[in-house]
Amino acid sequence: MLKSQLTTDQKRQQSEAFGYFSTSKKYTSAKGEKTVNKTRKIPAREGLNFPWKRAPEVGKPMEVAQQIYWLRLPLPMKLNHVNVYLADEGDSWTIIDTGVDSQPTREIWRLLQDQFFNEKPIARVIATHHHPDHIGLAGWFQREYDCDLMTTRTAWLFARMLTLDEQETLTPENTEFYRRSGMPSAQLRRRVSERPFNFVDIVAPLPLGYTRIKEGDCIKMAGRNWDVRIGNGHAPEHLIFWSKDDNLVIAGDQVLSSISPIIGVYATEPMANPLLDWLETCKCFEALADDNQLVLAGHKLPFRGLRKRMAELLRHHQDALDRTMDFLNQPRSAVDCFSPLFERQIGESEYNLALSEAVAHLNYLFLSEQLSRELSPRGVWLYQRKD
Ligand SMILES: [Zn+2]
Repeated sequence: MLKSQLTTDQKRQQSEAFGYFSTSKKYTSAKGEKTVNKTRKIPAREGLNFPWKRAPEVGKPMEVAQQIYWLRLPLPMKLNHVNVYLADEGDSWTIIDTGVDSQPTREIWRLLQDQFFNEKPIARVIATHHHPDHIGLAGWFQREYDCDLMTTRTAWLFARMLTLDEQETLTPENTEFYRRSGMPSAQLRRRVSERPFNFVDIVAPLPLGYTRIKEGDCIKMAGRNWDVRIGNGHAPEHLIFWSKDDNLVIAGDQVLSSISPIIGVYATEPMANPLLDWLETCKCFEALADDNQLVLAGHKLPFRGLRKRMAELLRHHQDALDRTMDFLNQPRSAVDCFSPLFERQIGESEYNLALSEAVAHLNYLFLSEQLSRELSPRGVWLYQRKD
């Protein structure tokens, strides 16, 4: 099967690996009525400035700062694109994020090689984090163009581990994670019977060897010096580059303009507290961020107003936590908490992401001792507010 011909189930499972929760047009009000064409509350976008109202055509690089090009690549899911950036180094290129390993994406890169890179070699590929839409073709670039891969140690280890960990059926640990979260039995039985999404379905194998980038490094790219800061919460050890020479930030998925980066818990680490990690990162970045910086992010449009956007996202998560606390005046599962958290109907294609985000909010509240929990006879964690 071609990688671009994914079934609905695979798309749903795959969307989990992207760590992304896209918006939906369906909405369920507090009274449970369905209304169409209402969007989530998250994308307030108030006070943000978007220098480009529209993204460039997929596969066509557009200059967004001197020596830096914005390239859109397709994703086979509801969030249908990822932004990557090309840095002109004078005698070579640095590519920041790669898109997933799919036939259409490889074709775009090959075409750019012929028509855009001007016979200058691709010397470096940088992956901001380990998600497939960012690191998907890094190994292919390493093999095909003999270039260096630079990323954080955790991103590299995670991506390499996941590409080597192909499973024909859902693992017992994933099954347990879904059961504990309150996934309905019929849905869980169906998942157990089907081949799960595997990282290697859309990520090229990563050869041994990479160059580590770490917190506090300073790297040269596109004729500028960049401070390297590490973020957490969306993905462990996520790279963010802050230009020392002008007002530019390459943010990956740490902060996005009009959708909220998923903050999720997965079976890999069921007691993780990524929401706390993400909030702590925001706190650290407050000293670095200002509203004049042009933020080049992994999805949606580049924007100015980073401080405002971080404040908006912080408010969004705080509101979600407050609604969840109100709702947990009686024992309820993570799946039950979809309703206060998302305030709309969760479709099959975004179910896994909703689940991982619900557990992230519950873990945050549980680990800060605001909730208690106990296992139901069916093996589901039921959470309740401590009064
Ligand atoms: Zn992404």
